[in-house]
Amino acid sequence: MKFLCIGRNYVEHAKELGNEVPEEPVIFMKPKSAMLQPNSPFYYPEFTNELHYECELILRISKNGKYVNERNASKYYDAISVGIDFTARDVQSELKKKGLPWEKAKAWDGSAILGNWQPIGENFKKDDIRFKMLKNGQTVQDGHSADMIHDFDKIIAHISNYFSLNIGDVIFTGTPKGVGECVVGDELEGFLGEDSMFKLIVQ
Ligand code: ZN
Repeated sequence: MKFLCIGRNYVEHAKELGNEVPEEPVIFMKPKSAMLQPNSPFYYPEFTNELHYECELILRISKNGKYVNERNASKYYDAISVGIDFTARDVQSELKKKGLPWEKAKAWDGSAILGNWQPIGENFKKDDIRFKMLKNGQTVQDGHSADMIHDFDKIIAHISNYFSLNIGDVIFTGTPKGVGECVVGDELEGFLGEDSMFKLIVQ
C-alpha cells in the first residue's frame, strides 16, 4: 500500500503558510513504512526541531483503478477517518527553498497516523463531514469537508491520472488551517464529528 497526500487543499491553510492556492491538487506520497502501527509509541524524530501536526480527513481505497472518472470516483473508496500527516516543518522549509522534493520532511517512518475507519454513508456523508483535533484538550484544528478546494471525487480522479489506485491505499486529503508545533509530552486527539478516532502522546 501507499499513501497519496494532497497539499494546500484549504484556502485558509495555504494562506497561513504563505503559499499560493493551486489550480490543480498538489500531490505527494508517503511509503507504507510511514504508517505508525496501531498501539505503537510515536517518537519525536531526532532530525527536526519543528515538528508540526496536520490533521486531515483520510480515505481508504476499496477498488483498484486508473483513469477514474470523477462521476464514478465515489465507488473507489469505502471508509473515512481522520489522521495526522506529521511534517518536519523546518526540514520542509529548507527543501522548498532549494526546490527539492519533500520526502525527508513528510515521508519518514511513523509520519502517517491513521484513526479508526468508519464506513462512508449514513453517518458520514462525504460533503458534510466535520472533524477536529485537540492538543492537550484544546481544539487546534477544526475543519469541514465542504471547505476543501478539491473534493474527494476530484482528488481521486486527478490522482488516478498519474498513479494506480490499489485496494488499501490511503488518501490524505489536505489540512485545514491551524497547523502548529507539538513537543514531547503533547497529547493529540482526532475526532470525526464528535467521535474520537485516535489519541497519541508525543514521546
Ligand atoms: Zn498534509
